[in-house]
Amino acid sequence: MSAREGGCACGAVRYRLASDPLFVHCCHCLNCQRQTGSAFVINLLIEADRVELLAGDPQPVDVPREDGSAQTIFRCPACQVAVFSTYTRPEIRFVRGGTLDEPAGVAPDVHIFTRSKLPWVEIPPSRPEFEVYYDQRALWPAASRERLARLIA
Ligand SMILES: [Zn+2]
Ligand SMILES: [Zn+2]
Repeated sequence: MSAREGGCACGAVRYRLASDPLFVHCCHCLNCQRQTGSAFVINLLIEADRVELLAGDPQPVDVPREDGSAQTIFRCPACQVAVFSTYTRPEIRFVRGGTLDEPAGVAPDVHIFTRSKLPWVEIPPSRPEFEVYYDQRALWPAASRERLARLIA
């Protein structure tokens, strides 16, 4: 167990992660590039009830994706920094790694959608990478798979 805290730029939103994440994605897809205005996003996947809000009330914004679906991104109502998002399962939050007080405290467990990775981004050979997505059952540690099973039971 390690307490991990973070928040938005203005300080109105503060959160604490109650445990380590299930898994950490570095996503190089075009949606994440556009949403962040950057090369990729770092997402800490964690149970929604393990994201404890210490201050503020992040507001959901439905953001269109290329496939026509929407991704719900939660933003600070004051400074509009995105702190986490959800995809198809609201029980799992994707906490944005750059909002941690110590972003260096996490590293990606997997790199995904490398088909649109920018050519100057070099992935360490020790990290698995996938052109598109990957098989969670094959890659997630047993403890994380058990947590996911409990969550969706
Ligand atoms: Zn803010
Ligand atoms: Zn993505």
